[in-house]
Amino acid sequence: MGFATNEKLRAMITGKNLIGYSLSGKSNKIFTGQGGSVKEINVVFHEADAEEIHQAVTKANAAFNIYRHFSSERKIAFLENIALKLAASKDSIIKITAQETLLSLNRLEGEMQRTINQVKLFANLLKEGSWVNAIIDTANPDRLPLPKPDIRQMQIAIGVVGVFGASNFPFAFSVAGGDTVSALAASCTVVYKAHPGHPATSELVGNIIIDAAKETEMPEGIFSLLQSASHESGINLVEHPLIKAIAFTGSFAGGKALYNAASKRDEPIPVYAEMGSINPVFILPEIIAQNSSALADKLAASNTLSAGQFCTNPGVIISLESKKTDEFLSHFASDITNASAECMLTDKIWKGYYTGIEKLSAMADVEIMTSNLKEEKENVAVPYMFKTPASVFLQNDELLEEVFGPSSVHVIAGNKNDLFAIAEKLQGQLTVSVWGTDNDLTNYHDLLKILELKAGRIICNGVPTGVEVTHAMVHGGPYPATTDSRTTSVGTNAIYRFTRAVCYQSYPQNLLPGALQNENPLKILRKVNGEFTRESIS
Ligand code: NAP
Repeated sequence: MGFATNEKLRAMITGKNLIGYSLSGKSNKIFTGQGGSVKEINVVFHEADAEEIHQAVTKANAAFNIYRHFSSERKIAFLENIALKLAASKDSIIKITAQETLLSLNRLEGEMQRTINQVKLFANLLKEGSWVNAIIDTANPDRLPLPKPDIRQMQIAIGVVGVFGASNFPFAFSVAGGDTVSALAASCTVVYKAHPGHPATSELVGNIIIDAAKETEMPEGIFSLLQSASHESGINLVEHPLIKAIAFTGSFAGGKALYNAASKRDEPIPVYAEMGSINPVFILPEIIAQNSSALADKLAASNTLSAGQFCTNPGVIISLESKKTDEFLSHFASDITNASAECMLTDKIWKGYYTGIEKLSAMADVEIMTSNLKEEKENVAVPYMFKTPASVFLQNDELLEEVFGPSSVHVIAGNKNDLFAIAEKLQGQLTVSVWGTDNDLTNYHDLLKILELKAGRIICNGVPTGVEVTHAMVHGGPYPATTDSRTTSVGTNAIYRFTRAVCYQSYPQNLLPGALQNENPLKILRKVNGEFTRESIS
């Protein structure tokens, strides 16, 4: 697909659903994008109806039964083609996405590059091959009292995955984002429910996946994209009996609704919902005494970045009562007052932000540290900060809820015991950050031990915004940050959400998958009789 001019690109936005290799817009239910796109892009989108959802899932299921038998080389070629096509079209797509989401070009360029790198990372994971976790326990026919059979295990794909992306990451947690790509890498097929905040971007990126699939001769139905602006289509997708797992990134309300819908199915399926988080930051006494203003600068910048629209936004900041903490707070207040107030992604998110701010403002013993410093304009999020003593935080569960936007609650602990009580009170988080000198971190090691039970990622002396896409990353955490604390949606381990272990007992050599054959034709790392090795079995 060529992206020579913006006009040509716009002409490619049909507003229809991508059902396998066909365009489909049967429903009379139409909508325009919820973001800045409405006037600029001037396309109406057709909401996927029940029949279209059924077609997409049925095609995906048929494609799964073909695709899962393809060699790794073919799957790698498909993924690499997606990355190539994204790279070739990124500049034109970003222009449309900037109109749709009002996110800055800089921010979108960084996110697009991250998305491309993520696709390549999964292609490389397949090239290396050991991700299938091959485990071989060889037979011992002489064992007494009973012979031991030959038992071999590896990970295989689970089937069709329904994916829901978030509005605030139009690339990295959207159409060709980590959920789709990890599912395709696992040999699953994908039916993607586009976010109504960026439907045009979704169609363009969806077309890239479809074009890459055609060029690399993938089966039709390996990927479909459904448009919708109501919850109905999403629920229909979750309820479809051929769907084997759901991956979701978005709000707590959305993730929980899909989880509840899935739990009512006749066949239960896993729902991997990555939801919001307040991402607490603990500041320990020695470090705040050393440089409270530099610390305030870093945390305020992280809090106000992209109008605070990050799931890892530091929303609750905890420090011990002291003169230095007072200095930190006044510096933070001046930082956020001077920060530019940015537009939010959608009207719904903007209204949600101010509902949260009003709720915090109305709470007794929660003091507003900054307010109406800038004129409040429609769709613009003015940063806010609040202060409250530990005793109030410990008694009010409402302070544990995410306010999605540039808001922070500063909790002032009277003593060390308060810090521990606050840590114990926390629910599951995507991240927890701790700022401390070496002395602080040693003195508060017991606090860190509580915090590691609360979050997917625990950060020392860093801000939570910015998630590296690496093998070791965990972007997840205990409920309510996610609906499955054992997984991650970022990094290569994300693939295991869409696989399960299967065990082959006393299986003929020639019928075993290559990963489990004696001669180790794929040269992968395997656990043979309890030892990791790349050697073949004689
Ligand atoms: P959202 O409103 O929950 O939307 C996400 C998707 O779910 C959309 O496709 C939406 O489409 C669908 N949806 C929402 N509620 C639904 C329901 N009740 N039933 C069926 N489908 C539903 O999320 P968002 O506003 O885009 O994103 C902001 C939130 O995402 C923040 O809370 C942020 O912290 C979180 N987030 C989390 C991560 C993470 O990695 N954990 C990353 C980014 C963002 P319809 O509205 O058309 O139904």
